[in-house]
Amino acid sequence: MTSEIIVIADEVLLGQTLDTNSHFIAQQMVGIGQPVNTVTVIGDDKDVMLTAFREAYHRSDVVLITGGLGPTHDDKTKEVIARFFDLPIIFRNDILEAVRERFKERQLPLNDSTREQAQFPEGATPIPNRYGSAPGIWIEREGRFYGAMPGIPAEMKSMMTDFVIPRLRKRCEGRDTTRFRSLHTFGIMESTLFEMLDNREEIEQNAKLAFLPSYKGVILRLTAHGKSLEAANELLRRAERLVRDKVGSYIIGDGENFSIEEVVGRLLRERGWKLVTAESCTGGLLSKRLTDIPGSSDWFERGWVTYSNESKHEELGVPAELIEKHGAVSPEVAEAMAEGALRRSKGNVALSLTGVAGPGGGTEEKPVGLVYIGYATASTVMHKRHIFPDKRDVNRERSATAALMLLLDQFQPHIRERAPQLI
Ligand code: AMP
Ligand code: MG
Repeated sequence: MTSEIIVIADEVLLGQTLDTNSHFIAQQMVGIGQPVNTVTVIGDDKDVMLTAFREAYHRSDVVLITGGLGPTHDDKTKEVIARFFDLPIIFRNDILEAVRERFKERQLPLNDSTREQAQFPEGATPIPNRYGSAPGIWIEREGRFYGAMPGIPAEMKSMMTDFVIPRLRKRCEGRDTTRFRSLHTFGIMESTLFEMLDNREEIEQNAKLAFLPSYKGVILRLTAHGKSLEAANELLRRAERLVRDKVGSYIIGDGENFSIEEVVGRLLRERGWKLVTAESCTGGLLSKRLTDIPGSSDWFERGWVTYSNESKHEELGVPAELIEKHGAVSPEVAEAMAEGALRRSKGNVALSLTGVAGPGGGTEEKPVGLVYIGYATASTVMHKRHIFPDKRDVNRERSATAALMLLLDQFQPHIRERAPQLI
């Protein structure tokens, strides 16, 4: 089955809105083993829409459209779909009643443009809208499927998960399926992984293998095509086993929702250790990301945001002379912050961050993006230096990630021993 997405939104073409809708729809389609082949982004223009529909009609069995379904003059999707499929627009009392009900609940008056929502292509199925008044449009023809949804992400998402995906899942049963699996490695270079996986031929008899490197580690992505969901899953399982045979000890997690914070939490929990943080340039981002994990109170003890030199001294006991001598952004201060956090808490391991997040404040010696990360336990004190090249917000995210990776790095012998059980 071939599938594609058409995004109708002037605001995306104008660079005002980031097209997150196709991202979501693509993910959902992967979830049912039907990745999309094409994403087309077009403006709110009837002729362009008609051309795009025509092309998609010839190319794909499933066409999912978002945007242009509101009640105003710039929303043209309904009209163009009706014209394309040659369906007259009729008044549907059931849709008006649903809209009336929504408005009553919210104690809003029903105006004429809202009544317009009840005009609907005859023979098409309305997709209920949980978060708004414009229904989506669902059309099935000759084993092909067309879904038009509003551009507002919350409305589109609920229509996808509640209506479109369950329907498509049923229709896909027994059809060709594509499945993915992501295996997240840590602490190993792409080229080394490549060499260690000298059974690539055997792996690729089951699933395609891709290497996706990033600063967080290399993801090994397996893609399998099968005659059914079960067949594709079986191929993936076989390929995964072959990958794990060779590099299993470097795999620290799997799936699309993998998070490094969760791995850190799991390792701390296994040790019965508590983590403390002392942050300067990240302003609490590291502790925020750690405490995003449910149950983090089991292993996260406390965190400081010590932005000023005084607070580093007063809260963490970093000697004023040390800051005076080396500057706040220095290996000495990073280590002293971590040691201080450990001393003044009940933690077993401390991470600290001090750096120049930018955009100002950089010097030749200490450029924007320079970050020192401190690490301390009862027996070890060390630091790591990074220079991040990005903007302030990215540098802060990357700094927090780098701190977590430093902890993983220190725990790595442990990770490697335990990797098979971890997963
Ligand atoms: P609509 O009236 O159905 O065209 O939806 C318009 C609203 O949805 C606008 O506020 C847009 O910012 C948002 N929107 C439209 N298309 C997208 C898209 N592809 N990704 C994210 N938001 C979108
Ligand atoms: Mg629009």
